[in-house]
Amino acid sequence: MYDFLIVGSGLYGAVCAYELARAGRSVLVIDRRAHIGGNVYTESVEGINVHRYGAHIFHTSDQKLWEYVGRFAEFNNFINQPVARYRNEIYNLPFNMNTFTKLWDDVFTPAQAQARIASERERDCVAEPKNLEEQAISLVGRTIYEKLIKGYTQKQWGRPCTELPAFIIRRLPVRFTFDNNYFNDRWQGIPVGGYTKMIAKMLAYAEVRLRSDFLENREGYLAMARRVIYTGPIDEYFRYRFGALEYRSVRFEQEVLDIPNYQGNAVVNYTAEDVPYTRIIEHKHFEFGTQPGTVISREYSAEWKRGDEPYYPVNDAKNSRLYEQYRALAEGEDKVVFGGRLGQYKYFDMDDTVAAALACVKAELAR
Ligand code: UDP
Repeated sequence: MYDFLIVGSGLYGAVCAYELARAGRSVLVIDRRAHIGGNVYTESVEGINVHRYGAHIFHTSDQKLWEYVGRFAEFNNFINQPVARYRNEIYNLPFNMNTFTKLWDDVFTPAQAQARIASERERDCVAEPKNLEEQAISLVGRTIYEKLIKGYTQKQWGRPCTELPAFIIRRLPVRFTFDNNYFNDRWQGIPVGGYTKMIAKMLAYAEVRLRSDFLENREGYLAMARRVIYTGPIDEYFRYRFGALEYRSVRFEQEVLDIPNYQGNAVVNYTAEDVPYTRIIEHKHFEFGTQPGTVISREYSAEWKRGDEPYYPVNDAKNSRLYEQYRALAEGEDKVVFGGRLGQYKYFDMDDTVAAALACVKAELAR
């Protein structure tokens, strides 16, 4: 009998495993995949650490969390400065003075950029933004909306911007300085040598079994431990009793190229609607790689169906209500707690994931 069974060896499960094992508890971690790490998993291809389930850039404003992850890996000085490609034009992101001065020939100063955006906003007269389109126009005006937001967002979410909630776009900073750093956070970086190594260190004090699917032997696994931390999809755990929660899924088309540098940047977003992928990741640039070849991944966004990998929870009103039903059911499970992006149906950044896992452990140890 283990003290804890942790289902899922992603970031959330790995932090829980480390903390519980260090507190003297016996811990078994199972994962249905053939590798540890969940979606932060990286694997070496041609000597390059490839983020197989999408790019992960750790960023935080919380010094304690930054120091915490620093115990398991050395973080490099990567700063995310994505570039947007719209037809034959290239712009810096997030929206900043580099973007504005390239878009408009007569804009050179912050005051001119602000005046230009204000006049566009007035032309469209958006008073209180009710959806993503109106929110975007009120933030940056129609020109930027049409070139850099509309197509990308509709591809990513599979719905028109007029049917999407305004809050999604508020993730993106708008700045009147020449600053291409995508995040506002104080600290960011990529673990040198990849995330898998970092996760392996977190799991070092627990027993780990791969290719082990909890749902195939639910009763057997439940009997193996006093407490269970479940990081898989909460609706799947309850056999989709109230119906499936919606997710956006992503298909990655990976290519190894015999050239040293394909796009000169880790992330290039393709914002036109007629390009079928949303972005191309060139993995070597996350670690300033100097390998002779390169590996790129095109990202195609898709509606999730059963059997696909779930990526982004669709946190709209309908799905939030459905999640609440599952959450109420979860409270009735006496020895299982649910955590992480899939267990809590929440679009967690990595720092939020670590914080949530630490809070979970604290609550478990206080029981
Ligand atoms: N977005 C956009 N154009 C871009 C990049 C982002 O309009 O070139 C919008 C889009 O609505 C997207 C949101 O900003 O859903 C958040 O994008 P982000 O890149 O932060 O998402 P993630 O990297 O987490 O997939």
